[in-house]
Amino acid sequence: MKVVLINPYELGRQPFALAQPAAWLRADGFEVKCLDLSIQRLDADDFVGVELIAVYLGMHTATRLAMQCVPRLRQYAPGAHLCAFGLYAPMNQAVLHELGFGSLLGGESEPVLHDLAVRLREGTSPEITDEPIVTLAKVPFRIPDRSDLPPLSSYAHLNMPDGTQRTVGFAEASRGCKHLCRHCPVVPVYNGRFRIVPVDVVLGDIAQQVAAGATHISFGDPDFLNGPTHARRIVSALQRDYPQISFDATIKVEHLINHAELLPELAAAGCMFVTSAVESVDDAVLTRLDKGHNAADFNTAVGLLRDVGIAMSPTFVPFTPWTTLDGYIALLRRLIELDLVYSVPPVQLAIRLLIPEGSYLLRLDDIHEVVDPFDPEMLGYPWRHANPTVDALQRQVEQLAATEPARPREELFAAIWDAAHAAAGRRAPTLPLTPTAHRYPTCPKPGTAAPNRPHSNSPVFRETSPHDG
Ligand code: SF4
Repeated sequence: MKVVLINPYELGRQPFALAQPAAWLRADGFEVKCLDLSIQRLDADDFVGVELIAVYLGMHTATRLAMQCVPRLRQYAPGAHLCAFGLYAPMNQAVLHELGFGSLLGGESEPVLHDLAVRLREGTSPEITDEPIVTLAKVPFRIPDRSDLPPLSSYAHLNMPDGTQRTVGFAEASRGCKHLCRHCPVVPVYNGRFRIVPVDVVLGDIAQQVAAGATHISFGDPDFLNGPTHARRIVSALQRDYPQISFDATIKVEHLINHAELLPELAAAGCMFVTSAVESVDDAVLTRLDKGHNAADFNTAVGLLRDVGIAMSPTFVPFTPWTTLDGYIALLRRLIELDLVYSVPPVQLAIRLLIPEGSYLLRLDDIHEVVDPFDPEMLGYPWRHANPTVDALQRQVEQLAATEPARPREELFAAIWDAAHAAAGRRAPTLPLTPTAHRYPTCPKPGTAAPNRPHSNSPVFRETSPHDG
């Protein structure tokens, strides 16, 4: 029986989320075609005789792109069962059912997806329920089967400060997260739990990607230090088996501080940079998000990483219903003080908080004073700031950010600096920018690329993706 697995979008990385179910299904004799729509196109020939189409919705942008694809999927394979899996599948059940998705799977979904395929093969109609199937039971992971995904050379490269490039492989050592940050899409599905991918599976996956040309591994775990012992085993094996391979991971500020003793080990094993969802330098906002760190912790985490020679790639949600103009200027100042101006893509300074269905933010008592009803097109709850000047500044920063790379980063930062001070009714002080001592490798990481560029007339929302920290 033929199955097509589709990933609409994953920030320039070869998708583990297709390679894992592909391994399960092929091991049971299914004929599987993987399509990564960030690189490949839908082609009618790929859908001849297909009985199951499973679309991975790991991100908000991926979900919106998938919605646009459905008419063509229906045209190419009118009889196929449509299934959506990934974090955003259960969250958007009403919209997805309306579009014709018969099954929605969340969490550790490979066994359920495999059962669904088996039922179709046996001619048993899949049970169509309005309720998504979310399972967090431990999964016997397999080495992901990446055999028919586009080559790693088609994906994002790591640009090194010396002008060279590294080919990036993408591995996951865990899924879910033990934290409950209110704005995070992992939380409604995993509810504070995480699942580890066994060390031998992770290493097997890295081995095949190194053989395919990877010289850098990007770990896509929501937080690499959710399981410090597990992380230590992975890192130590990486150092032993692949001393020439560098890597990066996503680690929350709180973990960087609480597990500071692990940072030298990460550095020794080749950790080049850590992505960390700093989100804000305003403690009132951080409390609303329940991030588990305060504004001062950002400095501490940057210092701890620099002490061992690891760069920090911070991500932010600068525009929230609680953002103040002073707070926004304070964020810009902090980037200058920490010499991070050159390592924060301007689009990061334009990110607007996304409130999807199921978000724990909707549990805040006063959130309903600022949000409008759910918008099925944007797949979220639109909100307006009480001060229209803040929303106007967000739009202005977004327009400025869209001019990168035509305009250099420091020039854009200066323009944003001026715009923020003008919005606050102040003269902008001369920008105290000096040539940086900290030029970092760059790579499209969650939140560092404009997450919903395909929808150019929509604001730049922060994808608090499954790879978030
Ligand atoms: S934002 Fe990061 S640390 Fe917080 S729940 Fe999500 S993945 Fe976990």
